[in-house]
Amino acid sequence: MEQTERDARTQAIFRAGNEALRRAAASHDGVVPFLCECRDEGCFTRIPLTSAEYEEVRAHPRRFVVARGHEGDERAIALNDGYALVEKDAAAGEIAVETDPRRPHDA
Ligand SMILES: [Zn+2]
Repeated sequence: MEQTERDARTQAIFRAGNEALRRAAASHDGVVPFLCECRDEGCFTRIPLTSAEYEEVRAHPRRFVVARGHEGDERAIALNDGYALVEKDAAAGEIAVETDPRRPHDA
């Protein structure tokens, strides 16, 4: 498997973790310390986001939220205060879509 595809799988795992955090926090407003979804599987940097900010990221299956400076050579589509949004394309993008926890499942 190509490195970029391996990276996408790693990032999908962190995304799944963030979905669990999001669900746990669903009952209250305010900021949730989401996990950095960068390619480094040893990175446990927290990114404080409101639920609304997080939902905006998750509305796009190819997008991941990473701490500023963790975007590396990934295509950054937005640089915000404290975090960046990166978007996957090509084979890595396909993996990001396939592993999207919000993807509707076939019954
Ligand atoms: Zn990171």
